[in-house]
Amino acid sequence: MSSCFTEPGGRAVAGPARRQPTLQVYDSLQRRRVLLPLSEGQSGRSELKLYVCGVTPYDSGHLGHAFTFCAFDLLVRWAEASGVAVRYVQNVTDVDDPLFERARRDGLTWDQLAQRETDEYVRQMEALGWRPPDVMPKVSGEMSGIVAAVSSLLEKGHAYVSDACYFEAARYPGYGGLSHRSRLSMIRKLREEGLLGEVGSGHKRSPLDFPLWRPSEPGEPAWESAAGPGRPGWHIECSAMAMRYLGPQVDVHGGGRDLIFSHHESERAQSESLTGTVPFARAWLHTGMVRFDGRKMSKSLGNLVTVEETLERAPAAAVRLYLASHRYRRDWSFRWEGLAAATRLAHRLAKLIGSESGGGGGGGAGLQGKEWALASGSEVGLVNDFSAAMDNDLDTPAAMRVLRRALRRQDAPAAAWMAGILCGTAGLS
Ligand SMILES: [Zn+2]
Repeated sequence: MSSCFTEPGGRAVAGPARRQPTLQVYDSLQRRRVLLPLSEGQSGRSELKLYVCGVTPYDSGHLGHAFTFCAFDLLVRWAEASGVAVRYVQNVTDVDDPLFERARRDGLTWDQLAQRETDEYVRQMEALGWRPPDVMPKVSGEMSGIVAAVSSLLEKGHAYVSDACYFEAARYPGYGGLSHRSRLSMIRKLREEGLLGEVGSGHKRSPLDFPLWRPSEPGEPAWESAAGPGRPGWHIECSAMAMRYLGPQVDVHGGGRDLIFSHHESERAQSESLTGTVPFARAWLHTGMVRFDGRKMSKSLGNLVTVEETLERAPAAAVRLYLASHRYRRDWSFRWEGLAAATRLAHRLAKLIGSESGGGGGGGAGLQGKEWALASGSEVGLVNDFSAAMDNDLDTPAAMRVLRRALRRQDAPAAAWMAGILCGTAGLS
């Protein structure tokens, strides 16, 4: 399919017509690729309702986090470049155990620590050139919706109160379906993570039941609820926030793969039990884990590379290019040499597109559309190959090969357009 664009000078240029997006993504629930689910937006335009589980703001962000949030930035940018309106919600989990523990250790109030670390997270993601979420709800500001969700689950008989208020997992027949885990495997994982809790009289009835609400410890914040004063469990927070801002059904629900069980499994069960709308998420997208020194990068193991450290050594666009050189679903290992190679690529890009009017100088690499690239004389093959790679479940390593081809051919408009998708507005130098 083709159509004509007219350059300011009057020359008609052939190029692909605007079309329905053909982006395919991998859905963790169905374990297969699906066409990106979309809703009808207010203006009749296709809309992507996207919910991504955000940070618990108690410590500096590391490359594992950046990989996840930059992967969803690619999804947002590519959907928008394909003519889709995106409504993007990413929460801030500012009511959570690790945050309270850290605040106690550092002699800060929990909300001071949360505010400081949230500001720092947003600053780093801005440096990495993200398209900010439309809404970033904080749990502490969403308590009325969370309390209402807990009340409703109690009224409908999906929850009970003992030493805390628990969701009764056995009443949801598909529990385990998202993570594709057996009952035993789920119990094992909860035990490994220290989340199993006590089972039996006065506690939870079954090992898979999970807390919706529980009493606060001394020094922790508490809110009133139908289950008594206390604070919410982690899973119900995300269900309530997703529903408040996106309705009973989201098109894509995303997060790191380590969230599939128990967080997303539980979110799915309680959301569908609450609203009766099935499925709660039309596709579940999960990002791979980043290793360093042979093991998953994690605070508890102490093998972190922070976002700050990478930004001290490389331009922000180089960090983005290095992240994008890995497929979003795969696990991979961070190497400083890989970042150095991406830095050389960023320098070559800056040299080529920095002098072009569409290139955005050293700041935001060109954000103009592919029509602009084509109208500027870009090779149609480059534009099409890049689009095909991105449509193929965001195959960014293949997209990067097309970007390198554009560099070799000195096709500045195409390179600027591709960099605008892969790096967002991250600086090239
Ligand atoms: Zn969540």
